[in-house]
Amino acid sequence: MKRSSKHGRNLMANVVIAGVAGFVGTNLCAAELEAGNKVIGIDNFCTGAKENITPFFDNKNFSFLEHDIVDPLPITETVDRIYNLACPASPAHYLKIPVETLLAGSRGMHNLLELAKKNNARIVQASTSEVYGDPLQHPQKESYWGNVNPVGIRSCYDESKRFAEALIMAYKRSHAVNTGIVRIFNTYGPHMRKDDGRVVSNFIVQALEGKPITVYGDGEQTRSFCFVSDLISGLQKMMDGNHPGPINLGNRNEFTVKEFAEKVIALTRSQSKIVFKPLPEDDPVKRKPDSTLAQKELGWKSNVSLEDGLKETIDWFSR
Ligand code: NAD
Ligand code: UDP
Repeated sequence: MKRSSKHGRNLMANVVIAGVAGFVGTNLCAAELEAGNKVIGIDNFCTGAKENITPFFDNKNFSFLEHDIVDPLPITETVDRIYNLACPASPAHYLKIPVETLLAGSRGMHNLLELAKKNNARIVQASTSEVYGDPLQHPQKESYWGNVNPVGIRSCYDESKRFAEALIMAYKRSHAVNTGIVRIFNTYGPHMRKDDGRVVSNFIVQALEGKPITVYGDGEQTRSFCFVSDLISGLQKMMDGNHPGPINLGNRNEFTVKEFAEKVIALTRSQSKIVFKPLPEDDPVKRKPDSTLAQKELGWKSNVSLEDGLKETIDWFSR
């Protein structure tokens, strides 16, 4: 995928990926290098893994900056495109570092917006379905303003992402920065950390190791699981266009967590049994994207079935 102009196709673009060593960042970096672009990866490894990016160092189009985006960015190269993925994403992680999580969405977002402004670059922010909180509308449309507990334990993540969206819109309105917001719903696939703490990696690792599958609550809460290759194509389509968003990116098929556990057990042919653990505070009861806007504006919809995506993810974890 070559670019024809600063934001179009045919020319090699200089792309910044903040959060490159994380799960989504690693998959996005591979796709951007494959497309022939130059990538400057940034990460402070607070939740990412060094081994994720080790293979990229053989590629002459990849360079890396170990840096916290909360501190001023020492980037002097010309930049055409910026993806901001730099934020802890697993509840198990952000609950441990709530202040850092809030600073990533505020000071970190501010630094990246300044970089975009200086370079007249397009910046795409990885926002989240968590901006809808524990949603009272179902499925969630971009026009829904959400139901977030501003002082609850998850607020460090939800409000960080909501603040980031507000800051982006302020930069768009006040400084005409070319911005895009995508709201990502639960995504899974290769390069998730084994100890990431999210439901997909937890269940797969538990099933492969023959350990009990830890379902929180009664397992009737729902999520819609998007395979990472679908998400990456949505992120790139968002970057290629000029739409400001917010646009939901997620899979339209909804499962209860208990159904999801049973699927993982069946696909791994595991002997593991389900055990029920307490439901974390403010855990959203249901979640499913309305992806009409993504289809209309980006020509994007998810394609990979849960079964196919899970098989590939299980294979990756087994290896
Ligand atoms: P991840 O935790 O695997 O990756 C995040 C990466 O950002 C890590 O490598 C981490 O070290 C880095 N990082 C965090 N704070 C940083 C900072 N201050 N400076 C520099 N680097 C920093 O998470 P992920 O699943 O890859 O998610 C990527 C992005 O997508 C996140 O912004 C997340 O909020 C968003 N998102 C992901 C999902 C999902 O299901 N994976 C859903 C919604 C939104
Ligand atoms: N969950 C679970 N067992 C686990 C991890 C998570 O039952 O070992 C549940 C969690 O309570 C939530 C859903 O799975 O209802 C998705 O959790 P995850 O942490 O993956 O992401 P979230 O959607 O909550 O951000």
